[in-house]
Amino acid sequence: MSETPLLSSVQRFLDSDPGSFVDGQRVSESGAERFEVYNPSNASVLTLVSHASEALVERAVEAAHSAFHGSWGSTSPYLRGVALNRLADLIEANAEELAQLESLSSGKSIHLTRQLEVPQSVVFLRYFAGWATKIHGQTMTPSLPSFQGEQYAAFTRREAVGVVAGITPWNFSLMIGIWKIASALTCGCTLVLKPSEFTPLSLLRIAELAVEAGIPAGALNIVNGSGRIGQQLIGHKRIAKVSFTGSVPTGVAVGKAAISANLTRVTLELGGKNPAAFLADVDVDAAVEGILQTAYVHQGQVCAAPERLYIHRSKVEAICAKLSERLGAMKVGGALDESAQFGPLANKAHHDKILGFFAQANARGQVICGGKPLPGPGYFVQPTLLKALGEHDPFLQEETFGPIVTVLPFDDEDELVRMMNDSPFGLGASVWTNDLAKAMRLIPRIEAGTVWVNMHTFLDPAVPFGGVKGSGIGREFGSAFIDDYTELKSVMMRF
Ligand code: NAD
Repeated sequence: MSETPLLSSVQRFLDSDPGSFVDGQRVSESGAERFEVYNPSNASVLTLVSHASEALVERAVEAAHSAFHGSWGSTSPYLRGVALNRLADLIEANAEELAQLESLSSGKSIHLTRQLEVPQSVVFLRYFAGWATKIHGQTMTPSLPSFQGEQYAAFTRREAVGVVAGITPWNFSLMIGIWKIASALTCGCTLVLKPSEFTPLSLLRIAELAVEAGIPAGALNIVNGSGRIGQQLIGHKRIAKVSFTGSVPTGVAVGKAAISANLTRVTLELGGKNPAAFLADVDVDAAVEGILQTAYVHQGQVCAAPERLYIHRSKVEAICAKLSERLGAMKVGGALDESAQFGPLANKAHHDKILGFFAQANARGQVICGGKPLPGPGYFVQPTLLKALGEHDPFLQEETFGPIVTVLPFDDEDELVRMMNDSPFGLGASVWTNDLAKAMRLIPRIEAGTVWVNMHTFLDPAVPFGGVKGSGIGREFGSAFIDDYTELKSVMMRF
């Protein structure tokens, strides 16, 4: 085992009585309720964080409202882009500190935060920063009749919606937080962001860096605590838009609350039960490598990760045998253990939920490999592969959000499409084949926000991302985000 030594700045941060970040400053209210943040690698308490009071959330919304009508609202698009690029530079300069803070509370491998989450956050920020100067309306020529020589002109403007409430989950708290920060600030909106109570640390540090980058006080506020803060934000009359990423049940409650609060715009990035289809021509080794890279990374706690594998009957045995061998040989260890290939689940509640799935799978005789907890004190379990008992197996329906992958053979393309689409979800799906014609025929038939070919889960800022069916409403990235964070105003003129 080679454990990453903790940076002294990380230890100082943990000891610094973290709370919220409001109007350009860190705030830990005296006498506030404090909640424990755990290290899932050893189940110890990392630090206590002050739960934002209703009054502090109110202050955060007011600060964001003032910045929207003042400092940030009057910042030119070019300077908004400059500030976001500076924030990207500062994230790069503080990359190891951010990676450690994120890994400590999420249980995510330090390799993943160093090589993916932190650097990709930088890539996303810079991509969004480039859009700041490219948000525009259109001109049009009305067809109104002219009786006395009068003429008409019309154009549209894209105007920032106002104060955005961002609500984020625990699995990629830094990167998902950056997506919301970048989308809102690029468009000229301001933001009050509520991170998951399991991972409240890294975004607090980002807010400090944002001030250093020249983003004015109040434009970005972080309020830490439980879901009740989310409810307060959604119901607030000054919140113009809610951007939520999380589970389906919470997302449905958020959507309903936003609509009934003030017909508040809402985007929902929710869960998935993503299928991956391996056609008859796939190479077994490449298929196994692909599954390992995408289904078990961060212990399967990735919204778009494949949880359902439909494998052509001719390849099922070979792929399952090889995959089981590789899963059984994975080195398990804590998030900061640089030699570990598979880490802990993110929190105790999630660990308990996954053990419940294991009990069901074992009782039904479905386990191909794994299916057991591992000795603690951290929240460790075995990476697991299950066989489905028919196409209506519950393990092909419910999101586990863990390292549990279920396999079902298929024989022909029509059967494959029917089974892939037999789901309340529609976030991502993949097709693995070297037969381009087959892939191109399947793509339009698959009900998903993203279809990958010979890859899965990879996200890019230029490519819109979001779900169909029960996986959500709205799209992030590309230029699609602009529609969600701006309002279209039409202007007509007679002259
Ligand atoms: P969750 O729904 O339990 O919590 C998400 C956030 O909502 C947290 O900040 C939580 O405090 C807050 N919240 C809880 N109750 C609330 C309420 N009543 N009103 C307002 N906010 C409330 O989700 P989680 O367990 O943190 O994350 C896992 C889920 O997120 C999985 O289902 C996963 O698929 C999904 N996810 C989706 C995406 C995506 O982009 N589609 C990305 C990551 C995770």
